[in-house]
Amino acid sequence: MRILLVEDDVMIGEAVSLALKDAAYAVDWVKDGATADTVLAHGEHQAVLLDLGLPKQDGLEVLHRLRQSGNAIPAIIITARDGIADRIKGLDLGADDYLVKPFDIHELLARLRAIVRRQGGQAASVLSNGQVSLDPATREAQCGETLVMLSAREFSLLQALLLRPGTILTRADLEERIYGWNEEVESNAVDFLIHSVRKKLGAATIKNVRGAGWMVEKAR
Ligand code: CA
Repeated sequence: MRILLVEDDVMIGEAVSLALKDAAYAVDWVKDGATADTVLAHGEHQAVLLDLGLPKQDGLEVLHRLRQSGNAIPAIIITARDGIADRIKGLDLGADDYLVKPFDIHELLARLRAIVRRQGGQAASVLSNGQVSLDPATREAQCGETLVMLSAREFSLLQALLLRPGTILTRADLEERIYGWNEEVESNAVDFLIHSVRKKLGAATIKNVRGAGWMVEKAR
């Protein structure tokens, strides 16, 4: 799962991006509103954390343009502006959630999980499909009787597939969700991850669709 962090405060930005990486997200960080605008138009991210007081373009303006363009990416505002009017405006402009600084990083992570789950059309905290389930809070995956802990990247891979059971994801789709801009991706990295998830959970967990990509078969 790839997150865009829009934050001009370097200390907060570093703390948040580190915490997100620790929690198995791929993170790209931009420091002004105009850049955020351009990056969001590419649609590479699955959620955005948006500060409001930003150079070049205010966060509310970024949000407004984003929603006007029809982009429905989940957005959490993170800001020091705690006035009721600002909160209402942010939510009315299309933010999915609003956190006032200073916030606890664990609360941010929990809200992010909640948003991701709603995006996947699931209400339960554990993602599941047939025999396979995945707990984003602990990174534990289960297949039948087998319960294993996944690495951050194995988790990202399985989460991407489990959020859309029955949908084929290409190598590029998966790389985009697992790696940020500054991470070098080896050409066989995805195959390697698929192999290790299958080894842990069983070969049937992820289906190879020859020449197209991979999927988790939708359980009936
Ligand atoms: Ca700011």
